[in-house]
Amino acid sequence: MVDQPQKAFVIGWPISHSLSPALHTYWLDFHEINGSYEKIAVPPEKLEEFLDNLPGSAFIGGNITIPHKEMAFGFIKDHKSAAIQLEATNTIWIEGSKLVADNTDGYGFTANLDDFSTDWRNAQSALVIGAGGAAKAVVISLTNAGIKNIVIANRTLSRAQDLAQKFGPSCRAGMLEELPVVLEKTNLLINTTSMGMKNQPPLKIDLAPMPADAIVTDIVYNPLQTPLLKQATSLNLIAIDGIGMLMHQAVPGFEKWFGVRPNVTPQLRAYMLKQLEAVNT
Ligand code: NAP
Repeated sequence: MVDQPQKAFVIGWPISHSLSPALHTYWLDFHEINGSYEKIAVPPEKLEEFLDNLPGSAFIGGNITIPHKEMAFGFIKDHKSAAIQLEATNTIWIEGSKLVADNTDGYGFTANLDDFSTDWRNAQSALVIGAGGAAKAVVISLTNAGIKNIVIANRTLSRAQDLAQKFGPSCRAGMLEELPVVLEKTNLLINTTSMGMKNQPPLKIDLAPMPADAIVTDIVYNPLQTPLLKQATSLNLIAIDGIGMLMHQAVPGFEKWFGVRPNVTPQLRAYMLKQLEAVNT
């Protein structure tokens, strides 16, 4: 009898432009695993039913993306600590008859920085722009890395204040208007907003006051070189793009579902950049 393929998925609404199937299929092929990873469009009103039907189905687990990360966390009872901290899940699997939810966005963020910088953890001061779901994962990663001064600046100040209060004494909320002064002391800047994304206005910020050895990273990866990263490069700052976060956050899920820990390699990066080009044409 031929073994049944192991099946995983990514759900979102919409989901048509997701790069995750290309990524996981690359690893499945590379490791010659009899498996599949497919995208499934699930509207918000069908999410609970979709999750309820997973145990006993042909699927072993999958990824959860926008806009379902918080709602899926609420529907699932068993959570790993990263999901609890973020009150959101991006990676789930089936254990016996129950679903388990984890969150690997913070892992993906730090692993990407580790690939391009050996000393980002030594930053005296970090500036996080944005206060949404991704900002939460970034702020937790920065506090876990021991960074003591974290300013969170957001269009809606109250959301930045909520985040700063939640994640403790290393964090404070800042106004976008005070950024020129904050930037003088910022060694690590992270854009977690959707500004700069394809079809979105750029993030308007003058990076000139930053220290000469500062790191600027953008978790937006389409386009790969956002206007913010282009400006950082033109000022000879260290610029780190967001596609690595996407690749690294996928590693723990693939390992859980298919039993092999995959690697993020230069070959994979080149392959994913081609995929990105293809979704844009
Ligand atoms: P979210 O929860 O909706 O938060 C969006 C953030 O962007 C909020 O802080 C929002 O500010 C801000 N924002 C949106 N439009 C703005 C505008 N016109 N002007 C100023 N601020 C604006 O979204 P998310 O889940 O955090 O995702 C944010 C981005 O990160 C998305 O582009 C997503 O694709 C990307 N992302 C990338 C990865 C990766 O693997 N590289 C992983 C996760 C997310 P307000 O609070 O004022 O609305």
